[in-house]
Amino acid sequence: MESLLLFLLVGACIWMMLRMHKGHAEGTGHMLAPGVDPVCGMQVEADQGYAHCHQGRLYRFCSRRCLERFDTEPDRYAQATTDMADAPPGGSS
Ligand SMILES: [Zn+2]
Repeated sequence: MESLLLFLLVGACIWMMLRMHKGHAEGTGHMLAPGVDPVCGMQVEADQGYAHCHQGRLYRFCSRRCLERFDTEPDRYAQATTDMADAPPGGSS
């Protein structure tokens, strides 16, 4: 009887941890935070600027000019954002 109770408690703990871990992973994310202009690096609010979808990812732009620049060389800017996301912020180089 005690072992069943312990099993339920452990199960509940694991369930909670999985839930929390999932929520945490979604919160930080591996993608660049939505709302950063990949061309000029400016922060763009969700209800401002321009949005453009490229290879299944949504990019936001502060102005039409930045959107057009991205459209000219999408791979260059898409690559740049990937590098930025992978590198730790505030690098000295
Ligand atoms: Zn911009």
